[in-house]
Amino acid sequence: MSTIILASSPRQAMAAPCHTLRMGPAEIQVLYLVERDLKTGILLAETAEQQRRIATAYPRGLIHNSLNVLVIRGNGIVALVDTGYAWSFPNLVAALQRVGLSPADVTHVLLTHAHSDHTGGLVQGGKAAFPGARVLFSQKELAYWTSPERQTAAAEGERTLAAEVGAILHAYGDRVSSFTTGQDLWAALPGITAVDEAGHTPGHVGIMARNNGQTCCMPLTCSPLILRCQPPMTWTRLPQRACARSFCSRPVAKAGW
Ligand SMILES: [Zn+2]
Repeated sequence: MSTIILASSPRQAMAAPCHTLRMGPAEIQVLYLVERDLKTGILLAETAEQQRRIATAYPRGLIHNSLNVLVIRGNGIVALVDTGYAWSFPNLVAALQRVGLSPADVTHVLLTHAHSDHTGGLVQGGKAAFPGARVLFSQKELAYWTSPERQTAAAEGERTLAAEVGAILHAYGDRVSSFTTGQDLWAALPGITAVDEAGHTPGHVGIMARNNGQTCCMPLTCSPLILRCQPPMTWTRLPQRACARSFCSRPVAKAGW
């Protein structure tokens, strides 16, 4: 079995704002939205060697990172994986246009987790930005952010995120549902599953597509950051710290593009 890890470097993204891969009946596209610098402080170096590698790789203390989303489509499914920030929504609309889609065409929005840089495009002006879409969270993620404890959490950031999930529930109503990791997400597109990557958030997931002996892994919505870190390390100080280890520990057999 060969393993492909999708990665979109900023330079590649600037040259080609969309990458496409076909996996059986599914067409998977990486849409580039925007670039921004992140401070290396978000990387959790657990050893002196990792600290040295970070300093060598990012001497300015900044990581030039790109914000990407995925479109998975085929057999009547048009699924968007994550939506970027609220402020990057115009970029998302433009990126969708480049691949022949509008927000009204999206049948599903699947969220890798409930942070604002992934959920922000869902609600615009208090209304559903994807009027025909179902919104899918992992069971653990939805349970976590809708629990009473999150509404009254001591940390303001947690309360803010819980309120944002509440706004999604308000805008999409009974079109919000949850899925179980490790099972096909859509009967119409067999072989596409969500993979438990709890750590970055309690219910964080990556996406995996399998077809005909080939596996395509999509960690953290194709963040190039993960692939640059050798040896693998977590990139967040949030609880549990096990972000994307399952993917990071695999060799990159092929960059894909
Ligand atoms: Zn996050």
